[in-house]
Amino acid sequence: MDIVNISADAQDFTGNVWKLENEDTCLIDAGTGDSWEKVSELSSVDKVVVTHSHYDHVDNIAKVVNYFSPDVYAYNPSNLEVDAEKLNEGDVIELSGLEFKVFHTPGHKDDSLCLFNEENGLLFAGDLVFPDGGFGRTDLAEGNRDVLIRSIKKIVELDVKVFYPGHGDAVGKNASNWLNSSLEEAMKHKSKY
Ligand SMILES: [Zn+2]
Repeated sequence: MDIVNISADAQDFTGNVWKLENEDTCLIDAGTGDSWEKVSELSSVDKVVVTHSHYDHVDNIAKVVNYFSPDVYAYNPSNLEVDAEKLNEGDVIELSGLEFKVFHTPGHKDDSLCLFNEENGLLFAGDLVFPDGGFGRTDLAEGNRDVLIRSIKKIVELDVKVFYPGHGDAVGKNASNWLNSSLEEAMKHKSKY
């Protein structure tokens, strides 16, 4: 299974748009700005899961829905400008032939979620954790550092082999060590971003 960030070449600041492609095409987040150009080159989009409703992750969602009519999933659909199905903690969603379990991971934003595929140890982390021990900022509306730390504690329990953050590259080397670094850093100080 190929998982690529199709917003990687975008000129505008945007959250990552991770694409899973197998018998169907699924996106994790919709991005903003000119990342839409890459999305619009796809032949189809069947499902979109929103990691959280910050504009850099959802701004293009209406364009994606108008163009491809995918099913959209989010922790809090009322935060989106399109219809979406609600995901809850513990739900399982199938994306391109892989089953992902839903973890509600607030602290950066109340409707933040992570998706974990146990079989392959794949985690879509949204803006909870970033490469090199980074972690989500908590100085925006709904941000709460104690809540964020609790959410990171949930995911360090998982057997993560690769994680796909909402910004930056995928982390496939020592992924679970890096998640522990993110937890330690978050406990030590506030985020820099
Ligand atoms: Zn965010």
